[in-house]
Amino acid sequence: MSDLITIIVDGREVQVPPRTQLIEALRHYAKVETPAFCYHEDLKVAGNCRICLIEFEGPRGWQLGISCHMQTAPNLKVRTQMSSQGVIKARKGVMEFLLVNHPLDCPVCDKAGECTLQEHYMGQGRHESRLNDAVGKAYKGGADHRFIDGKGDDRGGKRIDLGSTIILDQERCIACTRCVRFMDDVAKDHQLEIAGRGEHAYITTFPGKPLEHAYDLNVTDVCPVGALTGKHFRFQQRVWFLKSVESIDPSDALGANITIDYSMTGGEHGKVWRLMPRRNVAVNKSWIANRTRMLYQQLAVNRLTDAKVAGADASLEGAIAKTAAVIGSAKRIALVASGHSTLEDNAALLALADILGARAEVFSGSWLAVGKADGIALSGDPVANRAGLTEIGLGDNLDALVNRAGEFDALITLQDLWGADAAKAAALAVIPNRIALASWQDATVAQATIALGVRCWAEARGTMINSQGRVQVLNACPVMADPQLDPAWAILARLAGLGWTSELDALKAAQTRAPRLVGLSYRAIGPQGHVLAPVAVAVGA
Ligand code: SF4
Repeated sequence: MSDLITIIVDGREVQVPPRTQLIEALRHYAKVETPAFCYHEDLKVAGNCRICLIEFEGPRGWQLGISCHMQTAPNLKVRTQMSSQGVIKARKGVMEFLLVNHPLDCPVCDKAGECTLQEHYMGQGRHESRLNDAVGKAYKGGADHRFIDGKGDDRGGKRIDLGSTIILDQERCIACTRCVRFMDDVAKDHQLEIAGRGEHAYITTFPGKPLEHAYDLNVTDVCPVGALTGKHFRFQQRVWFLKSVESIDPSDALGANITIDYSMTGGEHGKVWRLMPRRNVAVNKSWIANRTRMLYQQLAVNRLTDAKVAGADASLEGAIAKTAAVIGSAKRIALVASGHSTLEDNAALLALADILGARAEVFSGSWLAVGKADGIALSGDPVANRAGLTEIGLGDNLDALVNRAGEFDALITLQDLWGADAAKAAALAVIPNRIALASWQDATVAQATIALGVRCWAEARGTMINSQGRVQVLNACPVMADPQLDPAWAILARLAGLGWTSELDALKAAQTRAPRLVGLSYRAIGPQGHVLAPVAVAVGA
């Protein structure tokens, strides 16, 4: 606390960190909600929208200033909308200017319900319209503002196809430059720019160039209005019908934080409509890769919603009984853990191995190639819970299983071995009983003598440890491919004869193998994750 300084907000002393953007200090320390369009906590300050105006006492007395650009300094005196009619009037003026050329097409706009312009009109605007109906609004989407440029490209106007992922509705743009700054400073690829001057200014790509980037859909998140919309979600669902659960990217070891946005309508058992980035400054800030965002499209496709025995469809109950019989009679059983599964699933696999005793041997690791981190929201390692496997004492010994496959008469795998490396996995075909627990009908299911359908990453609560050593929670979305499916940990615990009734039992089992996890509950881990304490290294080790 000694590092804090005092500023005076609406006559009240407030302790804030020094050299902090005033808008952040007002929001988080003075608890005064301050509107913004161009300001974004994870982008450089631009200071062009002016809606965050406050009054501060400067050398010429009280004057207006923009709180996104100003920084806190000792004894800075500030008036907000809570004490100044001048601030209220100035913000109303800003709103009126912004709305002069913004269409009132909220009923058909995809951003309605999460549009900052709508929110701030209710909070800061509420002005009477002074527009002349006889003249009307000069929409940039109108015929006058659509034109073919010197290179033959369609510019300005309505429904511009910006690239493979995004549509631009030019008339809704308020020229905040958030999208430009995202592409410049985060994606580091200058693909968007504001062209033109004054009321003719418009957002555009460079002549003849589309907007194409592995992260370009983040511009639809930062766009405070409905100017930039993703083709995948445009006109699919009204956002006020959606509920969210917090989860993480299960396809990469950074575990970018996301929300799963769903509704219980739209499919037999509900539907997941989109994945959105969830802010975690230490992990992915406010960004996710397009690749992560599109994972929702696989949730209801090619699922293994029942079981297969010898390649034929079978009931889950019957296949579990057959699996129990195989386990009961097998002499040597190889159990393969998975870095794509949660700690809970892997702890259940280890618990089953304990019950089987000397007949069982556990293998772990992955044959998938590890790429490079992109510095935004992907680590490059496709094995999301690799650190979790290490934490519960599992090493990388999959190749040993290939070399010794002939020793085993049963294989139980949590991971898609044939999908990762079919050439290596081919050696496992000598194992007569191959049992796969899988969410999708993948390459390993095709090779399995028994395949058991289980819930996927979005359907069961569990934990993973990311590449930074941060334990993170995947919460269960109530939308299921089939509600009869159980999580993998539940089937494994059942096969082991354990009386586990919830994922908490599985988490506790993981804690018995990982001292650093002891004491953690899902609540204690929290939405931002829990960083594990560094492992003490013995001197001389
Ligand atoms: S398109 Fe959206 S994010 Fe880009 S400048 Fe316009 S309002 Fe801002």
